[in-house]
Amino acid sequence: MDIASLADAVQRGERRAIARAITLVESTRAEHRVQATDLLETLARTGRESIRIGLSGTPGVGKSTFIESFGLMLVEQGLRVAVLAVDPSSKRTGGSILGDKTRMEQLSRSPHAFIRPSPSRSHLGGVARRTREAVALCEAAGFDVVLIETVGVGQSETVVAELSDIFLLLLAPAGGDELQGVKRGIMEAADIILVNKADGELKPAAMRTCADYAGALRLLRRRPQDPDGFPKAMTVSALNVAGLDQAWSEIYNLVEWRRTHGHWQARRIAQARHWFEEEVRQTMLARLDGPNARSLMQALSKQVAEGQITASRAAEDLFDRIWPEMRGTNPSESLDAATDIP
Ligand code: GDP
Repeated sequence: MDIASLADAVQRGERRAIARAITLVESTRAEHRVQATDLLETLARTGRESIRIGLSGTPGVGKSTFIESFGLMLVEQGLRVAVLAVDPSSKRTGGSILGDKTRMEQLSRSPHAFIRPSPSRSHLGGVARRTREAVALCEAAGFDVVLIETVGVGQSETVVAELSDIFLLLLAPAGGDELQGVKRGIMEAADIILVNKADGELKPAAMRTCADYAGALRLLRRRPQDPDGFPKAMTVSALNVAGLDQAWSEIYNLVEWRRTHGHWQARRIAQARHWFEEEVRQTMLARLDGPNARSLMQALSKQVAEGQITASRAAEDLFDRIWPEMRGTNPSESLDAATDIP
């Protein structure tokens, strides 16, 4: 299939085409990258926009149960839902979308849902790009909601927050009264904290945990992109499908508020800038790994090892040769220029 036909099929929402398109953007082969860029450029013209919801939480907190219940609820309301995952670790076990076939079983059977397992064996930079491009494909395919899931293991939440319009943090009821070691940065990125498992014996603990987090959220600096009462903490039971409609209506209200106040677009623009800068960094690193740069680096590295040249001079030489037009960007350059004898 050529790229134009693939783009058409994606826009018609054909699931096999979407899966194929995602495989294409996940490929690192040079000719596939060229095709992927063409495809994304073509599809960017559709101008379709989904609500991108990031969801983070430690293993076992109930992410897949939540996505299953929440996704099915949205589908019942007539919405189309895509689920993507950001998983920086290749060794993730127990509850991986990829490994555990029983995850989101019902949702995966729905013709109105699309679930994509996380690409394995990849570093975070690569995962971020591929997930971002997969999100763009799902938007072009006309999904109303794109859920982007990540395991709360550190950096991946930041990536997901930078990819989403709304960021949800899923927590479990705490045993004691401690705030479960949630990093401040993640708290600050959250729009809604959902304390899951608010059912049966766990319900009182879930309510307490929710109150604790509501208190903690009130201490955070007020963000301009929030109406009154946000960020907020709520209890849900993914298992009993309780509180999910309230969660959705809070999400929806927040989306509407941000849209009418210009924050929705502002956030997307800031994210586009962020990803452009990230791409520049990634491209630079990739080019440094190319054959020309590598042989130059090896030669210079040998000179450094033999004490013929200092490390910083060698690095400057390397960049001056690869990017002559970038000369003079290093602050030490002017000093060197003053001492250099032509
Ligand atoms: P994940 O690793 O975050 O995807 O978590 P799972 O969705 O696989 O859930 C981990 C465990 O918690 C499973 O045994 C679920 O049945 C259970 N669980 C998930 N949601 C709820 C809930 O709302 N209430 C209760 N009681 N258990 C839940």
